[in-house]
Amino acid sequence: MLKKVSQNIQKKKIRCPNCKNEIEFSGTIGDIMVINCKACNKKWKVEVKNSLTEIFSWDSSLDLGENLTIIKRRFKALPLQTKVSIYLMFFIINLFIVVLSIYFKVRF
Ligand SMILES: [Zn+2]
Repeated sequence: MLKKVSQNIQKKKIRCPNCKNEIEFSGTIGDIMVINCKACNKKWKVEVKNSLTEIFSWDSSLDLGENLTIIKRRFKALPLQTKVSIYLMFFIINLFIVVLSIYFKVRF
C-alpha cells in the first residue's frame, strides 16, 4: 500500500512562465499544486500529470520540429524501465494494427 502511494508521487521540474527560473516540486498525480517562484515571486497552478502523458504532451505555441525535439529529450531522460514499457506499448499497438489490417483484407 505504502509502495503504491510512493510510486504516484512525481518529482517534477518546471520553468517559471515569468522568469524561466527552474523550480523543483513533488506531488501526487492528479493534484493541483500552487507553485511559487522564489526568483520573481510569481504564483501559478500546475496539475501533476502522469509522466507518460507529460512526455507526449504537445505545446501548441511551438512548431512540429520543436515539439518532437522536446519529446525526444524527455524520452532520453527517462529511466530504462519506463523506456521499455513505452517500447512494449508501441509494439502492442503496432501488432494490433497489423492484426486489424489482415482481418479487414480477408473480409473485404
Ligand atoms: Zn519566476
